[in-house]
Amino acid sequence: MEGQGGRRRRLVLVPYPFQGHITPMLQLGTILHSKGFSITIALSQFDFPDTSNHPDFVFLPLSNDSLYRFNDPDDIDRLEELPCIIFDSLMYSAEAVALHLKLPSIIFRTGCATFALSFYVCPKIQKEGYTPFRASKSLELVPEFHPLRFKDLPVFKLKNVDEFLQHVTTITNLRTSGMIWNSIDCLEQSSLVQLCPKLQVPIFLIGPMHKLAPAPSSSLLEEDRSCISWLNKQTEKSVLYVSFGSMATMEEKEVAEMAWGLANSKQPFLWVLRPGSVRMSESVDLLLDDFKESVGERGCIVKWAPQKEVLAHSSVGGFWSHCGWNSTLESVSEGVPMICRPFSGDQKIISRYVSHVWRVGIELENVIERGEIERAIKLLMVEKEGEEIRQRAADAKLELQLSVQKGGSSYNSLNELVEFIVSV
Ligand code: UDP
Repeated sequence: MEGQGGRRRRLVLVPYPFQGHITPMLQLGTILHSKGFSITIALSQFDFPDTSNHPDFVFLPLSNDSLYRFNDPDDIDRLEELPCIIFDSLMYSAEAVALHLKLPSIIFRTGCATFALSFYVCPKIQKEGYTPFRASKSLELVPEFHPLRFKDLPVFKLKNVDEFLQHVTTITNLRTSGMIWNSIDCLEQSSLVQLCPKLQVPIFLIGPMHKLAPAPSSSLLEEDRSCISWLNKQTEKSVLYVSFGSMATMEEKEVAEMAWGLANSKQPFLWVLRPGSVRMSESVDLLLDDFKESVGERGCIVKWAPQKEVLAHSSVGGFWSHCGWNSTLESVSEGVPMICRPFSGDQKIISRYVSHVWRVGIELENVIERGEIERAIKLLMVEKEGEEIRQRAADAKLELQLSVQKGGSSYNSLNELVEFIVSV
């Protein structure tokens, strides 16, 4: 993808500095690099993944006191052959940089389209008397947003409704040339039909991105690969993989219920217990001594796993997840059925979609309790009752495979995106 003078055209990609945002942005970089662009990643130095895994990218450190903003647009101005800035929707300030430099910009949304639609639905229902930022327990369906219930709407840790609505306004008012989404037409059709006319810019749905071009690891924590050797010793589809992503935290009591639910299910499991994921507890090892003795070799516990490789492993037959969008796409892409335990943000929406729209998983609705966990694991992994869920998960994998193959929706959308970047 050459500019004047035969040099590759350069794109600056600006991720939000969290794992669930950095990973898809680096995937996007890998995909666009394979299409002939040079890639610069602008990111706070605190949050650099192992740059040696990405020798083709230039990493542009944002100064530490400007973790979420650019102080000096000239950092980017100096880059030659720059046709466009692509920024995570949470990195609002990149829009001003693009305007300052008179460059086109494109938003990259790392979450699902249905979550974005909720940004339009929430202000509307707020006018009708509902307070969107407060956790609801209501099972009532949200008008014009089925099958979501009020309790599935996103909850943000914000001070008040005004702050929430300001956040919504900022995101929905960003003036860019286009939007890229790590999603797939077939997964979110009904939301997209409602959302697209509101956005008024071209939209490019190119998910699941990790299947469009294999990207190297972008983990901020070190991956413990010993779990792959452990998985190699297990029988096909026997293992439940358990991970709640990079941010969720739990009470010690919940972890204990999880542990005994896993133990009592008698199913092999690979459990990621991230450091800091158990509130008020320095060491998860101390907490779990008894339980470890009881499960022995049937359980493998690591601090961080090479998750995409784990989910693609033939021994894995289920994923107990917090329903982060990346984790969900990674699971659905591999045909792995899910147990959903959402925490915050978009996770309750995604959980509802997994369990009631795509129907490739089940949701743990109540307080985390060992008996319920044991039943959910057995249903998902072995019992006849779970057979249809397992079959739908396998079918969804095939559908997503088609979307990234030649002629598929994401494949075509990527080609359109490349043409668009060159033309804006
Ligand atoms: N992940 C990983 N190893 C782990 C746990 C998570 O590589 O042990 C990755 C996972 O593959 C996904 C990302 O971390 O790409 C988590 O993103 P997600 O959107 O699922 O959740 P978040 O961390 O943003 O809550």
